[in-house]
Amino acid sequence: MLRRFRLEEPDTIQAASDLLVRFGDAARLYAGGTELLLVMKEGLVRYERLINIKQIPNLNQVKLDNGAISIGALATHRELTVSPVLRESLPALVQMENNVANIRVREVGTIGGNLCFAEPHADPGTLLLVLGAKLIAAKKTGQREIAVENFFRDAYETSLESDELLTEIRIPRPSAAGGLAYLKFGYLERPSVGVAVRVEFNGGEKKWIAEARIAVGCAGPAPRRVEEAEAPLKGKSIQEATHLIDEAGGIAGRASQAISDLHGSQEYKEHIVQVLVKRAFQQAVQKS
Ligand SMILES: Cc1cc2nc3c(=O)[nH]c(=O)nc-3n(C[C@H](O)[C@H](O)[C@H](O)COP(=O)(O)OP(=O)(O)OC[C@H]3O[C@@H](n4cnc5c(N)ncnc54)[C@H](O)[C@@H]3O)c2cc1C
Repeated sequence: MLRRFRLEEPDTIQAASDLLVRFGDAARLYAGGTELLLVMKEGLVRYERLINIKQIPNLNQVKLDNGAISIGALATHRELTVSPVLRESLPALVQMENNVANIRVREVGTIGGNLCFAEPHADPGTLLLVLGAKLIAAKKTGQREIAVENFFRDAYETSLESDELLTEIRIPRPSAAGGLAYLKFGYLERPSVGVAVRVEFNGGEKKWIAEARIAVGCAGPAPRRVEEAEAPLKGKSIQEATHLIDEAGGIAGRASQAISDLHGSQEYKEHIVQVLVKRAFQQAVQKS
């Protein structure tokens, strides 16, 4: 049962941050409500006030800004699937968003709510890790930039301060000389394992991998970049890297900090990571 609460409707970031300071632990920010209302209905948390931030203008915009892709934290998953900017500049993110949850959740759930709730079985954080995204956190007194690798602390825990809002996700526009893929596997409502692979090639005639990035999500408490698995691929031709990709996938599985849970055992998840790294690498290379 959903207990009674009061709804605050600030129309600026400053006013929302003020309310967070004023009501402390008794209040929580509210965007799409798809996570929040669920845990409140189940009685897992109780808040006397919800601070609805959807009235704050322009926080759902997706645009190109100084060569970077800027995504407002209040953009819904559905808005991201139809964004012309993303379709043109970052189709892998559009594809990932198309497969988040179900149509009802995508319609109202926001990317900011997804990241801030930090539910381990989620997709966007993993892809943002290989994209080198920066998250903008704002409060009454100003704003700061948090590299996505420093954002997720643990399951359901982020590095946002108690009076901060996530306002924007900034992603450097991927270069044309590279490929990117995100794949996930699962048989429950939420993904069991997610893997993102990005490769950047040198610009020369003989193509070799100048940079490889691999991130794993859902397997452990928080998504993580697995640099240990990237190292064997760097400086290799596509053919050489294809021979090494099983090894890299195995390293990624072991480095993923997988834990046994309802989605499967640690060993099972590590194996799925290995399989997905191989497939995502193949896709990324094909798209380059
Ligand atoms: C049935 C179901 C299936 C799902 N499947 C998937 C899936 O396959 N893949 C996947 O990635 N996700 C999945 N999700 C999660 C879904 O993406 C999130 O529920 C949604 O994005 C949360 O956004 P929201 O706006 O509704 O957040 P809310 O519920 O409004 O908020 C969630 C939390 O984030 C905080 N918050 C919200 N916005 C901000 C902000 N701007 N700044 C600071 N804090 C903020 C709130 O205070 C709250 O603690 C699923 C969810 C459901 C219910």
